[in-house]
Amino acid sequence: MLSGRALRTSRVLYPITALGPGRRLGIWLQGCTLACKGCMSRDTWNPGGGTEVAVDDLLRMWHDAVRAGADGLTISGGEPLQQAAVLAEFLAAATVADRDVLLYTGYELDELGEQQSGVLERVDAVITGRYSAGEPTRLIWRGSANQRLIPLTPLGEQRYRPFVDVSPPRAPVQVRVDDGLLWLVGVPPAGALPKVERSLREQGIVFEEAAWRP
Ligand code: SF4
Repeated sequence: MLSGRALRTSRVLYPITALGPGRRLGIWLQGCTLACKGCMSRDTWNPGGGTEVAVDDLLRMWHDAVRAGADGLTISGGEPLQQAAVLAEFLAAATVADRDVLLYTGYELDELGEQQSGVLERVDAVITGRYSAGEPTRLIWRGSANQRLIPLTPLGEQRYRPFVDVSPPRAPVQVRVDDGLLWLVGVPPAGALPKVERSLREQGIVFEEAAWRP
């Protein structure tokens, strides 16, 4: 038990199928100071937003997901490595045989401090690099061509190496409605979100707020 420790969290969804292989628990951590132009998750920037979720509660959600058949865990954000110390503790307690952990970070590997590198010791694959609106890509699970998918463990090699250069004809994207909010899970192609918004507006559906608008 890791009583008293908590991660500032934007949302937790299960099952997600658009950010990593198979059925996964998705945890989006809250808070990011990297401010990439064109970020589609501006709602996760405020480090005081979201909610504090106890590490024990996140572990319970993860173990429930594993019992329900989860293949892996995806940690995104926000910038997960801006909560590196507690995240490392969570991941140390979250290891389950044959279930992989994929981590998204806006940092490059050579920007990481000691504590942040420690998180990667608990991760099977990492997707690195800031979102760069001027470098569109169709590479799976990535938002821009500069972002790299890097397997880090034997399980990561087995599950992620085959996808490093894959560009599917359609990006995997899921739509989830949760508590009156519509969540798009995945990395839609450049320009897709304003198009979706326009087309819904023509049908009378207007978003009060959208996380991709500045
Ligand atoms: S794309 Fe990721 S790293 Fe960049 S501002 Fe958005 S949440 Fe932060």
